[in-house]
Amino acid sequence: MADIIQLLPDHVANQIAAGEVVQRPASVVKELLENAIDAGADVIKLIVKDAGKTLIQVIDNGKGMSVTDARLSFERHATSKIRSADDLFLLNTKGFRGEALASIAAIAHVELKTKQAADDVGTAIVIEGSEVVSQDVVVTPKGTSLSVKNLFFNIPARRNFLKSNTVELRHIIDEFHRVSLAHPNISFSLYHNGSETFNLPVSNYRQRIVNIFGNKTNEKLVPVDEDTEVLKISGFVGKPEFAKKTRGEQYFFVNNRFIKSAYLNHAILSAFEGLLKTGTHPSYFLNLTVDPQTIDINIHPTKTEIKFDDEHTLYAILRSAVKHSLGQFNIAPVLDFERDATLDTPYSLKGSRTETPKIEVDSSFNPFQESKTTPGTHQATSYRKTPTENWEGLYVGLESKSNGSTDFRALTFESEETVSSLFEGKETPEKTNKTYQFHNKYIISAIKSGLLVIDQSRAHQRILYEDFLKDITVKEGVSQQLLFPLELHFSSQELEIVKQLQKDLEHTGFVFSNVTEASIEIKGVPVMVPESEISIILEQLISDVQNEVPDANFSATDLLAKSMAKSLAIKTGQSLQKDEQEHIVNKLFACKEPNVSPTNRLTFITMGVDELDKKFI
Ligand code: ADP
Ligand code: MG
Repeated sequence: MADIIQLLPDHVANQIAAGEVVQRPASVVKELLENAIDAGADVIKLIVKDAGKTLIQVIDNGKGMSVTDARLSFERHATSKIRSADDLFLLNTKGFRGEALASIAAIAHVELKTKQAADDVGTAIVIEGSEVVSQDVVVTPKGTSLSVKNLFFNIPARRNFLKSNTVELRHIIDEFHRVSLAHPNISFSLYHNGSETFNLPVSNYRQRIVNIFGNKTNEKLVPVDEDTEVLKISGFVGKPEFAKKTRGEQYFFVNNRFIKSAYLNHAILSAFEGLLKTGTHPSYFLNLTVDPQTIDINIHPTKTEIKFDDEHTLYAILRSAVKHSLGQFNIAPVLDFERDATLDTPYSLKGSRTETPKIEVDSSFNPFQESKTTPGTHQATSYRKTPTENWEGLYVGLESKSNGSTDFRALTFESEETVSSLFEGKETPEKTNKTYQFHNKYIISAIKSGLLVIDQSRAHQRILYEDFLKDITVKEGVSQQLLFPLELHFSSQELEIVKQLQKDLEHTGFVFSNVTEASIEIKGVPVMVPESEISIILEQLISDVQNEVPDANFSATDLLAKSMAKSLAIKTGQSLQKDEQEHIVNKLFACKEPNVSPTNRLTFITMGVDELDKKFI
């Protein structure tokens, strides 16, 4: 039989290798930014069109390349960064494989312009699918500009596999954040489709974080500093009360390189133990400096994983350093989860934080009147406006408005006429004393055929969700005016999302007065939204939008309604008065789809008398 093994032609080998290095536009962004940093640049500009699908360009003022190097840089295993395998253990550069440019050039249209400081003119090279199309002498500033156009033009399967622009852009921005957080001493800017999305001047680390994530981040940060023989730690952790429902802002950098480490993440979580509400994740921005000889970065092609010689020691040092900081900044003792943390530090009320709401117009408050809340939620700070976790909080302001369409108490009665099938006939639970709250989680009620068990939180989410959807579609959400407009600060990426949803938000009752590059001013909110919750709702909304993988069914309206319902619904663990329990039962069965929560989970179950009977046999 004839020989069948053949060597792959270079361009095929390059294309295959490219698959490892370049998964999506963000991978190109990472490689190009890293090359610019390795070249010693201190000003780096990233220009992106159509989420990188059409263009990714990085312009730096680094050391540039000679004519020969410019040509060589596209060869596989061409690198100026290591000379022997031993160098791998002394790495001070980002790159070392010499694969990135060769891979990128195999699957895109690439244009390089580069010039070294000492030269009068530079070199321009155009390469398409590994083929050099032209090489010229050009006039160009010192440094390098590399444009990558039409990524995956010759691998349609790959190109089709790319996600929507929203998703791809988010990956690019994530990458941009990681790189720019690791290098506050370098100025970075990012332009997408012609508009400036980020402009980060050289600054200290705290300022860099704030420039990326918005002004409100500043007061959330607790510094961490520890210097030991094996490990130096510097950076910040977020205060526990600002922990987010999603793991967004968690960054480890080892020797200025972003890494992922479940093990070290665990060290942080254990330092936060007892300080976090369940289901929330702390933010952290931590730079670890270790001897390069004690790590191996080489284990992962895209180099976000890393192997440490002595993980256990690092774990212990990291954990105690973070614990120490949290203790030192007096975070631990003031925490009290019976209280609503948002009342302690209304961080979002930046402008109006001058305590205006202290005299807070809780005209209904009467110190001699027994609080309607249960002992569990009773709190020392109750002279302030009722906090969120508190049922009545959701209705603050309602009494004074006589608007029938959103007056929930009125609806309680209305809804009796519209109860849906479950209660048809004589099934309706009788009006009084027929509901019972169980474990502060379920509402139990007798129905003719047996027992009804309602998940209070999911049921309330369903109720609010349908209300919001209605408000948004009929555009008649009722708004309550804030006594003092509230100024909220967001990162530009977050603001982009708010702007996209602005119209819908307005339909629910939000009134925006001044939307700028970095902040929005809010003059009014939907009647049922307590002031202390505004920023939390918007934050939750932004993170929901960010985490939603937009698909065909993606609807901003729906997401907004879901997100607000989730933020505002009563939670598990909250004790409810009888009338509140009944209100939920009534309103739930007046919903169009009472059976499931907005996220499609069962809101109630029933258990027939016969089922019960069987258990007693
Ligand atoms: P690596 O970064 O692993 O060395 P790359 O394929 O990313 O491999 O780059 C190959 C070589 O091209 C680099 O080692 C460097 O010498 C040169 N190079 C790439 N980008 C730049 C840049 N922006 N400025 C100067 N030199 C660069
Ligand atoms: Mg490189």
